[in-house]
Amino acid sequence: MLTFIPRVDNQVDENIQRQAAQKSSTRKNVRHLRIAEIQKSSLTDYPRKIACVLFTQRCNLNCPSCCKSQLIPIPTTDAAENYDIKDCFKFIDSRIGLVESAVITGGEPLLHHDLPALLAHIKKRGLSVKLDTNGTLPHRLHCLIEEGLVDYVSLEIKAPLFDKALYTKAAGVPVSTDKIIESAALVTALSPKCEYKTIILPGFHTLERLGSLIRGLPNTVPHYFQAYAPNRARTEYWQNLPPTTPDKLNNTVRLLQKSFPSHPLFARH
Ligand code: SF4
Repeated sequence: MLTFIPRVDNQVDENIQRQAAQKSSTRKNVRHLRIAEIQKSSLTDYPRKIACVLFTQRCNLNCPSCCKSQLIPIPTTDAAENYDIKDCFKFIDSRIGLVESAVITGGEPLLHHDLPALLAHIKKRGLSVKLDTNGTLPHRLHCLIEEGLVDYVSLEIKAPLFDKALYTKAAGVPVSTDKIIESAALVTALSPKCEYKTIILPGFHTLERLGSLIRGLPNTVPHYFQAYAPNRARTEYWQNLPPTTPDKLNNTVRLLQKSFPSHPLFARH
């Protein structure tokens, strides 16, 4: 059972948080922000807003079903397709008046040491910020929320949070689900400008497992379920799975809504 905190203020000791951030940064932080891809505009990535999208390079998970596996490895400084933070500032400036928001996705954006500088620049230019995260770095998420640098958070929940073994299977590496539980609690403070997201993996997300996943979350945050796109998967096994049809996705979500009438559950196409 999750223990949810009502507000993020006064809940985390700042010194511990700073030390944790520093310690973590020596292990897996990406010192200089690398953006692998940029998308000039999108109508689907930020709820009800036109957005530009920036994809950060590097992820701390290694999900076998990942459809952006080119974004998992550590960035190389000479990768011609990467954009550094100055390029990103220029790109954001060029989108003023054309988009209302910027979506930062990955990879795992929170790994990047100078992400706050990019978000501050975006906010100064009057754009809203949406952050997509796998939830493994709650102390960094907490800092961004507290500093008012994010307007909307999409937190991916891959498996029931009390089942570490299953979560590890979905993530491809051992995962501290306690960290994701902490992130899940943090985003409730942003509600309704936050969401949980689950990509339904065929053969992995049985109705029973989806039920366990939902049961472990609060019913105050909208939870979106998306179809899996096997054509972009990282491994052959996942590539060969049948895609989830729109009807199948709708049916699955309808069944879940019946079982959990007090949870705001939605299908996203
Ligand atoms: S967390 Fe997302 S980006 Fe990272 S490996 Fe998993 S699916 Fe890919």
